[in-house]
Amino acid sequence: MLSNELEQLRQQLDGVNNDLLELINQRAEIVQQIGQVKNKQSINRFDPVRERKMLDELTQKNHGPFENSTIEHIFKEIFKASLELQVDDHRKALLVSRKMQAEDTIIEIKGEKIGDGNLHHIMGPCSVESYEQVSQVAKAVKQKGLKMLRGGAFKPRTSPYDFQGLGVEGLQILKQVADEQDLAVVSEIVNPAHVEKALDYVDVIQIGARNMQNFELLKAAGETDKPVLLKRGLSATISEFINAAEYIISRGNRNIILCERGIRTYEKATRNTLDISAVPILKQETHLPVMVDVTHSTGRRDILLPAAKAAVAIGADGVMAEVHPDPAVALSDAAQQMDIPTFDRFMNALDEYAPRVSMQK
Ligand code: PEP
Ligand code: MN
Repeated sequence: MLSNELEQLRQQLDGVNNDLLELINQRAEIVQQIGQVKNKQSINRFDPVRERKMLDELTQKNHGPFENSTIEHIFKEIFKASLELQVDDHRKALLVSRKMQAEDTIIEIKGEKIGDGNLHHIMGPCSVESYEQVSQVAKAVKQKGLKMLRGGAFKPRTSPYDFQGLGVEGLQILKQVADEQDLAVVSEIVNPAHVEKALDYVDVIQIGARNMQNFELLKAAGETDKPVLLKRGLSATISEFINAAEYIISRGNRNIILCERGIRTYEKATRNTLDISAVPILKQETHLPVMVDVTHSTGRRDILLPAAKAAVAIGADGVMAEVHPDPAVALSDAAQQMDIPTFDRFMNALDEYAPRVSMQK
């Protein structure tokens, strides 16, 4: 008997559910028609005054059992969902997303095609200190058949009293050495006003972790056609990282390489926590090449190699690491840069583990 009553109530409920479904879809169709009318008249689709009026009318008629606040909440969700229907798919998908572009973006830098399925590593000192220092590293980089030389001329340091970099003089040194060795220059720019000047010296504009949300810098880099290596912010979520890349691409520059460089966590054993799972997520969600900086993520020379192996195993397009002729006297990041013999062994071991030219492609 009881179960019969329950059965009846359930049937009644199913009926109401169906009616509600019908009605909210009917409502959505009307909202879409309103959207078309507004579009023709170039009127903004979201109308908060009209929403408020609809909510007031509903709560005035409401006799419960739902509280007015609950009714407002439910209807607000329905309004929001209907409004979202009006935004076409194109505007919802980010320009950097796979949804927008299914195929991988390939960026050509001095004959290297970053994102082509082969590995392309970026090596060089943390900071440019002198011609001689950069030159020694560049020769070692060249000798390994690598094409991209990194080096910081503008250093974003935590303390204002630490070495700030040689500035334009540093860029000049990098350019001279890179030309001598036929390498491409990857160097960080920290000031939007310096972007244009830097174009004479760099092949890749690096935007550092501390500047990932420097929106004016992102826009300035987006207005050039130079490849940009965008590093993940110290505490940035993957979504914030992707949106930072969107700032660049939305200004017209599609040549963006994402670089995972570790994020800040409670762990003290490493300088940052290398978020290795960010690599396949970024590869899935965006069409951009993804690299991993093993130096700044780990901050430990002793685990650079396993971290680099993990990076390539999980799908990174390349690895970045720092090399200095005499790390003990380096003006920045002395603890984690490799000296040249260590770099040679590191590259040999990494190449053996993961040959740069993939056999599968
Ligand atoms: C760098 O690569 O020189 C650097 C400062 O790294 P990050 O911005 O990732 O800290
Ligand atoms: Mn460094």
